[in-house]
Amino acid sequence: MIRAGDADFVSMTRAHIADPDILVKTLSGRPEDVRPCIGCNQGCVGGLMEFGRMGCTVNPAVGSEVRMGEEKLAPVTTPRSILVVGGGPAGMEAARVAAFRGHKVTLMEAAQRLGGTVKLARKAPHRAGIDDITVWLEEQVFKLGVDVRLSTYAEVDEVLAEKPDAVIVATGSSPRMDGRQWGNSGEPAVGMDSRIVMSSLELFEAPPAHAPASARWLWTMWCWRRPKTEPLLRVVPTKN
Ligand code: SF4
Repeated sequence: MIRAGDADFVSMTRAHIADPDILVKTLSGRPEDVRPCIGCNQGCVGGLMEFGRMGCTVNPAVGSEVRMGEEKLAPVTTPRSILVVGGGPAGMEAARVAAFRGHKVTLMEAAQRLGGTVKLARKAPHRAGIDDITVWLEEQVFKLGVDVRLSTYAEVDEVLAEKPDAVIVATGSSPRMDGRQWGNSGEPAVGMDSRIVMSSLELFEAPPAHAPASARWLWTMWCWRRPKTEPLLRVVPTKN
């Protein structure tokens, strides 16, 4: 943009939070190594507003650079065999850091592709960008020589056969469907037993057969002071 004469100055904020080395990597000809900001606002803006402390969804070292910054990832003197179970963002990040430090890393993923539930979250309207981090992590783990095994269930026998020095379990979680919310755990949401209530994973994995034909998306409608008589979830037809 500057080279083309379209601007004299470009300011980036969140891009530097997601990767403080963005300029170093770009100037040294490694733009593909720049960890992308996914525009979620959860750790940076959300962290400041909710906890008074900034973080970053894709960069766990934010605020703890002295202890966890990339430059602190020194090569190990005794490489070990690390087995990571689960190829979502957490598993890939664990594999990336371990391989970056020189360990021999194997990553087992039960699905046919890496990315975990982020691949479902990206299906939400205007949320495809959230997947940028899993695309980047996938490129990084292959670049660092991680032995990636897809469609592989890590049962006890498979784990023992690898004879790993350490096993990292990063198999994610399942949505709880008891209506309890993190921010209001003492008052479970009503209506959770309704047939039209489903988890976001169910929604994005397979659109429900019982949804009205005119509805292309289901929107969860949660209001903090919602009267208990109101439904938890409504079906909203989209314009197209
Ligand atoms: S928390 Fe999200 S929006 Fe904020 S810098 Fe990190 S990735 Fe970007």
